[in-house]
Amino acid sequence: MDSRTARAWLEVDLEAIRRNAIQIARQSGRPLIPMVKADAYGLGAVAVAKTLSGPDVWGFGVATVAEAEELRAAGIRERILVFSPTLPWDFPSIRAAGVTPTLGEPTLVEAWINSGGGAWHLAIDTGMNRAGISWRRVAELRELVLRHPPEGAFTHFHSADLNDGSRSLQEQRFQEALSLLPERPPVLHAENSPGVERQRPSPWDVVRPGVFLYGVGGGPGSTLRPEAVAHVRARVVDLRDVDPGESVSYGATWRALRPTRVATLPIGYADGYRRLFSSRGTVLLNGKRAPVVGRVTMDMTMVDVTDVPCAHGDVATLLGRAGDDQLDVNVIGEEVGLLSYELLVGLKLRVPRIYLEP
Ligand SMILES: *Cc1c(COP(=O)(O)O)cnc(C)c1O
Repeated sequence: MDSRTARAWLEVDLEAIRRNAIQIARQSGRPLIPMVKADAYGLGAVAVAKTLSGPDVWGFGVATVAEAEELRAAGIRERILVFSPTLPWDFPSIRAAGVTPTLGEPTLVEAWINSGGGAWHLAIDTGMNRAGISWRRVAELRELVLRHPPEGAFTHFHSADLNDGSRSLQEQRFQEALSLLPERPPVLHAENSPGVERQRPSPWDVVRPGVFLYGVGGGPGSTLRPEAVAHVRARVVDLRDVDPGESVSYGATWRALRPTRVATLPIGYADGYRRLFSSRGTVLLNGKRAPVVGRVTMDMTMVDVTDVPCAHGDVATLLGRAGDDQLDVNVIGEEVGLLSYELLVGLKLRVPRIYLEP
């Protein structure tokens, strides 16, 4: 047996990621900056970047310089944009890796130029209030921008999934800010996944999809539906009969009301199977559904298999598809109060990743 599938693992369907990227490219009509930050939302930045590399990709987006360096070390040659703010002591490593910073604060733009310059993108804040120069202050950058024009300029939507009109307000502010610059930067971008899902074609030059590539999206107002990408599996490693009145797991928060068959799966919150699933999650096993009983522990999770014939070594699915049934990443997190983004990003390296390729 493949030792990687001996206990618990994460299957990543690279072809599904590729098809999700094609949906985004068709909808937007624009080249992509696939966001592969946070190790491609937990699914593996290098594998994802290698899968998506090609004519539809204008560049990749990361959050940190270290993430960019990892992609360079793996041979990724496309542009890489670092979207979290960087400070002057990051500039030498940014240049060494040949990556592109996103800057907004005038003193930092000046420091970038004075330390040697190089391609940069202008970050314009239009309401997120997280990073970038406020749209109201962009005129302060005129001289610096004349000295060393940015390759691109962008903003970021705070509520693109809500269909609440905030997007058009932010786009109006973005336009206003751009009109304060001496000339239009060649490459403008704004949309994250929910932004692309809700407007076609894109009004800008490139788009920045993240989570949709990994299977999250298709909410209200979206005309697209992503394919499932991540499948979490674990084998039954222990089986026991629990008498009525006995409890299962820490804190004895669950007690058997009837003679109950309990299976133990070797996956817990240290692997990213979150504690919020305690007595609320479900797993797929041998064509049936088995509820989680008691607390999810660091390394193991117990499920009620009284009605699910199973044996040691059988494979349970905790996220994703098994046969005709599915635990949808868009649904199972929300059911326990967990953002789908967090559910994906939380999947930990202790579970080996297995890449499904065509
Ligand atoms: C994370 C991020 C994105 C992608 O957002 P999704 O909602 O995952 O599509 C786009 N742009 C910026 C600046 C980001 O930080």
